[in-house]
Amino acid sequence: MNSESLNNVLDNKEISHHNILEIYQYALKDPIELFSTAKVLREKYKGNTVTFSKKAFFNIVNLCKDSCSYCTYKAEPGEEKLSLMSKQQITELLDLAKRYRCVEALFVTGEQPEQRYQEARDWLKENGFASTSEYIIHASELALEKGLFPHTNAGNLDFDEMKELKKTNVSMGLMLENISDRLTEKGMPHFLAASKRPKARLEILENAGKLQIPMTTGILVGIGETIEEIIDSLVAIKELHQKYGNIQEVILQNFQPKQDTRMKDKPSADEKYFKIIVALSRIIMPKMNIQIPPNLSPRSYQSFLSVGINDWGGISPLTPDFVNPEFSWPDISKVNENSKNAGFDLKCRFPIYPEFFSFISKELQEKMKDMQNEEGLVKEEYWR
Ligand code: SF4
Repeated sequence: MNSESLNNVLDNKEISHHNILEIYQYALKDPIELFSTAKVLREKYKGNTVTFSKKAFFNIVNLCKDSCSYCTYKAEPGEEKLSLMSKQQITELLDLAKRYRCVEALFVTGEQPEQRYQEARDWLKENGFASTSEYIIHASELALEKGLFPHTNAGNLDFDEMKELKKTNVSMGLMLENISDRLTEKGMPHFLAASKRPKARLEILENAGKLQIPMTTGILVGIGETIEEIIDSLVAIKELHQKYGNIQEVILQNFQPKQDTRMKDKPSADEKYFKIIVALSRIIMPKMNIQIPPNLSPRSYQSFLSVGINDWGGISPLTPDFVNPEFSWPDISKVNENSKNAGFDLKCRFPIYPEFFSFISKELQEKMKDMQNEEGLVKEEYWR
């Protein structure tokens, strides 16, 4: 490589924020060296496998006390898209997910809905729970009974809530989004979202580290950030992982404007910019599991395999992506075909990557055994 910084990455040396910025600036003119370095690292640490998790998306409750300018997931009482899942609905969807041979039960909620909405408090009461996290614990137990593996993404849960959820969840998720305080200022996307204050998010991710919960986190790209803020965010995730060793994957999500949001007129993240950030993520964290959601790059997702990603995240054969409802999931058979054409083998993983199995209880590990192959992934005959 002509770039000394990229050679240092290939030699396993640490690179500074300044080096990363230089690589980025050069890549804007000519990204070939960056892309080929990311490809080499991806092949070195992840081979020619690309994974995904076969999931059902449980939109448990989409009332939310916050209001991010890009979000179409959140509902207000009375809106058609409002979701307040009953125990019966959860059970029915679990049964259906099992029939579709899903592996993951993804439990998603808005941010602490009961703090702001009487409707949420009434819903919890009707179902016999005092808090959303108690309800998710119950849903997680039901999922395990049916042979599905829970992964909860319920915003800023406190230490004790996460500790309880660790008993039934094989992993959990919380997007960092971005570490920039500037994005919380007036007129910026996180101004009305206290839970997205970087300090608050980092505290939760620190707690997940202390609790040794296999954690999925990531950044949202294209919401008005600077490249320095992207680099700071990725370096912060890397440092969390260096400290606690529990970040199991990093999601890189490209912003797509939603018609019913304050950011409806903002352009989607530019694909070249997004690809450079994907490749930068691989050189910042060479061994990390790095994921892009295929539904958000429907025409080109397979091209990201050559710039560093090794995972497609959760793909559902039966439920929509409630966070991006206008982008349906591709068929798993199509993802398989596109991955193969790009030279990669598609394999199904649990919502926890094999290298993190030792983080969860023996009981949870035992429950995965029947479905598991010798690589710690899901047996082909189960998911295909
Ligand atoms: S992105 Fe999450 S925290 Fe922000 S408004 Fe939507 S549901 Fe709430």
